[in-house]
Amino acid sequence: MARLDPEQLLVVTGAGGFIGGHLVAELRRRGHRQIRAVDLKPFDEWCQRSDAVDNRCLDLRQRDACVEAARGARYVFNLAADMGGMGFIELHKAECMLSVLINTHMLMAARDAGVERFFYSSSACVYAAEKQTTAAVTPLREGDAYPAMPEDGYGWEKLFSERMCRHFSEDFGIVTRVARYHNVYGPFGTYDGGREKAPAAICRKVVQAQLSGSGQIEIWGDGEQTRSFTYIDDCLEGTLRLMDSAVADPLNVGSDQLVTINQLVDIVEQIAGVRLVRHYKLDAPKGVRGRNSDNTLVAERLGWAPSIRLEEGLRKTYEWIHAQMTTAGSTHVFV
Ligand code: NAD
Repeated sequence: MARLDPEQLLVVTGAGGFIGGHLVAELRRRGHRQIRAVDLKPFDEWCQRSDAVDNRCLDLRQRDACVEAARGARYVFNLAADMGGMGFIELHKAECMLSVLINTHMLMAARDAGVERFFYSSSACVYAAEKQTTAAVTPLREGDAYPAMPEDGYGWEKLFSERMCRHFSEDFGIVTRVARYHNVYGPFGTYDGGREKAPAAICRKVVQAQLSGSGQIEIWGDGEQTRSFTYIDDCLEGTLRLMDSAVADPLNVGSDQLVTINQLVDIVEQIAGVRLVRHYKLDAPKGVRGRNSDNTLVAERLGWAPSIRLEEGLRKTYEWIHAQMTTAGSTHVFV
């Protein structure tokens, strides 16, 4: 296993976002001191920020910005993307596809800067639609991405960018690692505004119902669609293990604890100690009918698989969202 050298410069793009912010914090905890953190958002909008690293505000759709981001770097974690939950990706397909500029220019800049390892955060949205039509879904194996029919817009961009990583590796010798994340959630994530994903949205709605005393909750779809949700600590562990590994092909980084959205709501209600009347919004964006992660390959290749139970991860997420909604929230700054 090639260990990431803590003395070498490491770049995290999308560092102002949910996973990127956690990744910078985790790398700091693991002893990395040479970190450049890059995001499009102004610093005061970053989910988490460390003033001990080289923070840059850059638009990575631009090639010059990618050259600046990659200069002198040994490793790149490319997490920047214009994305969000179902409510966002179903209605902003062109914007999602424009993230191809970020990965293209970051790969070119990384190659030209002599970067040794390049990580790309792909998604379970690359999987073929026909494999996800029932709630009692067969978990998705890595090979199920082909023949290709991924999620419109966002999924096509991810699949194309995965392949670009592969071909940059074959043609230019840059080592690339690709994770297919499955619904990552946790504290410091987006929970309102339109880009939030199901776990954060449900936590927010339960808090809102409690604060307003409405006793009601709106659920997108009929609540019987299934998903698995990956707690952020598992996502980080999988990311770093994969980056350190010899695995050149895309790997699932996702929980295989399958639940319906109704079960997700049950868990959050239990944590909050409430029972709400459910209203189903059948015409809301819902995505595929069922999706789960097959972790056979990740267990075999990394000797590890996500294991944090949804009940445990949701408790921490709910408590954080509750605190944000009941006290004045702001960017979390750490050392
Ligand atoms: P996020 O939206 O919180 O973070 C992405 C960050 O990228 C944002 O802070 C955004 O400002 C930044 N960004 C967007 N356009 C940019 C640009 N032009 N230049 C520089 N920065 C730009 O999302 P996240 O949940 O942290 O996801 C991180 C990565 O993981 C993304 O590539 C996403 O597609 C992938 N992913 C996430 C999940 C999930 O469940 N969260 C699932 C599958 C894949």
